[in-house]
Amino acid sequence: MSDIDLSFVVPAYNEEKNIRPFLEAMRDAVSSRKMRVEIIFVDDGSADRTWEVVSDVASDWESSSIAIRGISFSRNFGKESAMLAGLGQTVGNCVCIIDADLQQPPSTALQMYDLLISSPAYDCVAAYQEERKQGKIIGSMSSAFYGLLGDASGMEVVPNASDFRVMRRSVVDALLSMPEYHRFSKGLFAWVGFKTLPFAYVPAERNAGESNWGFKKLVSYAWEGLVSFSTAPLKVMTAFGLLSAVAALVMLIVTMIKRIALGVDVPGYATIVALILFFGGAQLIGMGVLGTYVARTYIESKRRPSFIVRDAVSSEEEAAR
Ligand code: UDP
Ligand code: MG
Repeated sequence: MSDIDLSFVVPAYNEEKNIRPFLEAMRDAVSSRKMRVEIIFVDDGSADRTWEVVSDVASDWESSSIAIRGISFSRNFGKESAMLAGLGQTVGNCVCIIDADLQQPPSTALQMYDLLISSPAYDCVAAYQEERKQGKIIGSMSSAFYGLLGDASGMEVVPNASDFRVMRRSVVDALLSMPEYHRFSKGLFAWVGFKTLPFAYVPAERNAGESNWGFKKLVSYAWEGLVSFSTAPLKVMTAFGLLSAVAALVMLIVTMIKRIALGVDVPGYATIVALILFFGGAQLIGMGVLGTYVARTYIESKRRPSFIVRDAVSSEEEAAR
């Protein structure tokens, strides 16, 4: 057992204005408790002063109950990589993944921690948004996506689950044992299994800065997730190919009967052009889908690291100096 009760993994990309308020909120939340906490900031190649702020607070930090560490990436590798790097640094008996922008309040994280500690039958408490603040279109697209992902991969994927969760060490070790380069954490969380307790919460407004998720990024995230966790698109292609072959056969038979038995002339120029275009398009889509998997295999086979660390700080090493 470690002497750290709870580790926080905080991915931060362009969050210079949020680091200090985040720590303030954390101090408030932890102050009344007898527990030891570590906070691991992962600066995901921010273009602003996020890393300077993290290094500054880490070097001046004085608290017996909260330790601060930080690592900084050589460039922006994305939140998935930041979470992986942060998880790898944790030593706590439990670990919480939390955003730096205070949309997920530290006090809520501690409630989730309490719930986990008082529920020995569970290994993870995952926050989900009861009411999502998002448009109708994105909302229905995202529920369709989670339904599809669940069906396609045969895993139980909780809709609207976020990365905001508190896990026991065993879950963290399981997550770290998966070496893949393309990481889709919602799928990874579901894949490792363990008993997960859902926890409804309402996200607060972003403290400062803006969200990094545009519509385009969301769609590509969904596609990544689907391809990472299921080969269903390939099966859809096969099914489609079979169906169209059957349809073509039926058409051929009908045309032959018309021509031979009934002696009807079958004019078909427009139909032929339409069919050629349709199946040409369908084949290209199919090749695109297939290509996605081949490309995936290629990238994974290079075994590149998911991130590269440029610098690291720790409040405890500073204090020991
Ligand atoms: N983030 C990151 N790398 C990125 C994008 C985002 O580490 O490339 C972090 C960001 O700093 C924040 C968290 O991931 O702590 C969630 O990002 P954001 O607030 O933009 O997403 P939203 O809350 O809108 O889902
Ligand atoms: Mg946010």
